[in-house]
Amino acid sequence: AKTAHERMVCFYDEKLHEKILFEKDMESHMVSSLEKNEFVIYLQPKYGLVDRKIAGAEALVRWNHPTRGFLGPNDFIPLFEKNHFILELDFFVFESVCRMLRRWMDEGRPVVPVAVNFSRVHLLTNDFVEQLIALVDKYQIPPHYLEIELTESAYISRFHNALQIAQRLRQHGFLMAMDDFGAGYSSLNSLKSLPLDILKLDKNFFQEKEPTPKETIIIENIVRLAKQLNLCVVSEGVELEWQAEFLCSVDCDLVQGYLFSRPIPVTTFEKILMEHAQP
Ligand code: C2E
Ligand code: CA
Ligand code: CA
Ligand code: CA
Repeated sequence: AKTAHERMVCFYDEKLHEKILFEKDMESHMVSSLEKNEFVIYLQPKYGLVDRKIAGAEALVRWNHPTRGFLGPNDFIPLFEKNHFILELDFFVFESVCRMLRRWMDEGRPVVPVAVNFSRVHLLTNDFVEQLIALVDKYQIPPHYLEIELTESAYISRFHNALQIAQRLRQHGFLMAMDDFGAGYSSLNSLKSLPLDILKLDKNFFQEKEPTPKETIIIENIVRLAKQLNLCVVSEGVELEWQAEFLCSVDCDLVQGYLFSRPIPVTTFEKILMEHAQP
């Protein structure tokens, strides 16, 4: 009979084996899925806290997988960051957003800025900035319709590259956002040095219960600090009415969260935006 230790080793082997098979299967579909438009963009609206009107959106990718169903980014982005397919996928999302903005302009629809997420992997490439500029040129999009979201930890892990990239993109007119602020070991130093337009407070800033007096002071003052630095402050993951009211009372600009809307298909977003724009 096997010892407990041997059984453990077997168990880990099996788990590892399963993971390898899963990853191989995902990798065998990813390229064809990109060609067949099986990666789909959802938009989550951002709302103004005072007027509660749509002020923008964030593009969030989903995978309509041929055998595994509808997958969220947490199921495939870690793998794509490992095998670098994320470089292609992020540009696919960005180009789809450019095409969509072009169509909104051509059809005379209301236009709001759209945020696109970029993995830290891009910070190691040479032509990230040039590729983004080439695409806005191709579709003739004013760069200020596009927000480039990098997480706080991406900015910090590649600080020198990130600083140069942010400077060049911003010079070109793109809006630069820091995502997930407050999720890790935040550095106020990064706020001092990076040329940013938007600060997105991480969703974990808010628990379900009301903030303690200390938490209230911290959030209030982070918002104040960011606003004094001329940043637009967006709070993510807002699910409850009291959170929205609290954020409004501390002068946060925008909110994004299930309280207002989940991420929705592009056509649904367009309908809501049209209704919003009616006088
Ligand atoms: P993120 O950039 O922080 O995006 C916000 C996530 O929070 C989204 O999850 C959104 O659906 C979710 N969310 C929004 N409101 C609420 C709320 O009120 N409560 C809760 N609990 N969650 C809320 P999603 O779509 O599953 O995306 C997860 C992450 O995957 C994103 O986090 C982002 O880091 C990454 N991601 C998504 N699309 C892309 C992409 O095109 N490229 C890259 N590189 N990463 C992406
Ligand atoms: Ca984001
Ligand atoms: Ca975030
Ligand atoms: Ca996140």
